[in-house]
Amino acid sequence: MLNFYLPLKKIPLLKKGEIKRLKKLEIENLKDLLYYFPHRYEDFSKKVEIEKVNEEEKVTIQGWITKIQPKINKNGKIFLLEAQIEDGTGKIKAVWYNQPFLTQTLKRGKYFSFAGKVLKKNGEIFLSNPQFEPVLDFSQELLHTGRLVPIYSETKGITSKWIRKIIKRFLENLKEKFEEFLPEELIQRHKLMKFQDAIFQIHFPENERLARLARERFAFEEMFIIQLKMLFERMKFKSKKAFAIPINLEKIREFIKSLPFELTSAQKKTIYQILKDMEKEKPMGRLLQGDVGSGKTIVALVCAFNAAISGFQSAFLVPTEILAKQHFKNISRFLEKFNIKVGILTRKEKVNLKEIENGEIKILIGTHSLLEEKIKFKNLAFVILDEQHRFGVKQRAKLISKNTQNYSPHFLSMTATPIPRTLALTLYGDLDFSVLDELPKGREKVEIKVFQPTEISKMHGLIREEIKNGGQVFFVCPRIEMREKGRIIPFLRAVEEEYKKLIRIFPDFRIKMLHGKMKEKEKIMEQFEEGKIDILVATNVIEEGIDVAGATLMVIENAERFGLAQLYQLKGRVGRGEKKGKCFLITHFPTKKSAERLEALLNSENSLQLAQKDLEIRGPGDFFGEKQSGFLKLKVASLADIDLIQKARDFAKEILKRDPSLKNYPILKTEIQRFTPIHLE
Ligand code: ADP
Ligand code: MG
Repeated sequence: MLNFYLPLKKIPLLKKGEIKRLKKLEIENLKDLLYYFPHRYEDFSKKVEIEKVNEEEKVTIQGWITKIQPKINKNGKIFLLEAQIEDGTGKIKAVWYNQPFLTQTLKRGKYFSFAGKVLKKNGEIFLSNPQFEPVLDFSQELLHTGRLVPIYSETKGITSKWIRKIIKRFLENLKEKFEEFLPEELIQRHKLMKFQDAIFQIHFPENERLARLARERFAFEEMFIIQLKMLFERMKFKSKKAFAIPINLEKIREFIKSLPFELTSAQKKTIYQILKDMEKEKPMGRLLQGDVGSGKTIVALVCAFNAAISGFQSAFLVPTEILAKQHFKNISRFLEKFNIKVGILTRKEKVNLKEIENGEIKILIGTHSLLEEKIKFKNLAFVILDEQHRFGVKQRAKLISKNTQNYSPHFLSMTATPIPRTLALTLYGDLDFSVLDELPKGREKVEIKVFQPTEISKMHGLIREEIKNGGQVFFVCPRIEMREKGRIIPFLRAVEEEYKKLIRIFPDFRIKMLHGKMKEKEKIMEQFEEGKIDILVATNVIEEGIDVAGATLMVIENAERFGLAQLYQLKGRVGRGEKKGKCFLITHFPTKKSAERLEALLNSENSLQLAQKDLEIRGPGDFFGEKQSGFLKLKVASLADIDLIQKARDFAKEILKRDPSLKNYPILKTEIQRFTPIHLE
């Protein structure tokens, strides 16, 4: 079998210039090229004699050019090229616009195959801008006409026609070397097309059915490799040793009793799941998903408490300084009576590092500062990642590797994003799942309302009312300023402009702004917490975990710019006190319908199910927001295809059971080593 990762310059099939052009398409090795799949096919498979050509049809005809005539505009340039084609049954005109260079190729007396759409003008039918290729002998395989013609995504100066020729050259020259690399049983069981056929059929399919089968094979392959990777990582992780932490039931009961509230049954269930995991000698790897306000922190804390009772340390990693402080304050309060030392470590707040190293501090809360080399633990047994979407796997790995005794800590990742099942299996397939699907008693859901741009003054009225009733408002814009590289971006709301506007509209309210570029962020946050600010205009720096009891209304401008995941994070920032939270979304969505869909989705009880649906309809970009839409670049497989994902996962499990090091599948092994979804980088 071929080495997929052979750089193109090592393959004697390309000229230097061609290599350079391919680089523009980010094609640098053999696999990049072979897997540069067409995104669709143009159906020119209908070959007809000229006398049988009908208007509005897409056809291929073959014949001699009997006339060729350039039309010249007043600047002396060829703007139109007209040809007459004959095949013995009749003749037809073909025209090309603005392609003067075609006079080099399209010459009188030459025999060509032409493919295009037949149009009619002034009572005469003709072929408009047809594709063409010379026919030298009749057994010749056609590439650009007379078949399902692959259409590739093009960039400036690189046409599908050119890509077709290059790919064809590779397929022809390498065909002897292609062989199947997926396990034979897999091919059999799911009736997949073999690689050596599929690689031809996906580029140059004989018919639509074969094109579809080829695509199905590559979709399976793609998802299978992802699943194999995830399960492989999981196996590696699970093969490590962890501290087995006994469940100190009496103490836990006492602690839970001391809390100022009753745990929900979802919380109790999850705590039990986690404690059961941590009782084992294998490290836990678990993702805890629960809406904002569902009480994830306390779940983690009970488990950290249990570890502390047995003398083990826990680390709580959070994305922001503010959040670290908040957690520290709350957790210290909860643990007051239990003689368990809690520490905080951020850029500004330093604990005595000795107390971490000698094990005195049992629960350490901190930001990225926790990851620094010099931070050493005595017996770190439990690692909690709060708002996990803010961290990469490298950071996660760094934290997990902070064990002094060659033990791997148990690991809990927490998120408020409703991650649809298919995404979870694909992206976090290396982890187990827990869901907190219940809000604490008395807590009401945030009410979502979507406003069209024409309803802004009505919305302003509602904002006024909210503040008059003692509420506080977060006002979120996607950008800091309207200008980008000197250009104004229309239709995008920006903090600075919106701030000025709101001051004019609400001269009697106290309004401040907050964004990432400002130094006095914390001071402003504090003022807001103390109720000294009515409206805080901000970017989504306020996205993470912040708990301001007085904040009752969240306004999100350009809601269409945010992914569902982000909107979930944002809406959870309000209504954490006694008053019900509200969230107003202003969209520039083209249709009222899509706005209604969004409203239903965010208001729904079963956010997970709806999130899955949304993923199916609109894809992962809309789910995670624009910035991350390319986060897992799948070529053919769909992140919403539960059937595919399940099958791929099942087989990946099977094969790892049989051959845990994949020694019989060297190509698969290379593939999973090579494959790193962006979120794992
Ligand atoms: P999140 O899941 O968003 O991280 P938190 O853990 O921050 O939620 O909890 C939100 C608030 O609810 C905190 O003030 C917490 O103390 C409180 N809380 C947690 N569990 C309960 C409960 N069962 N009943 C009442 N309040 C709770
Ligand atoms: Mg939280």
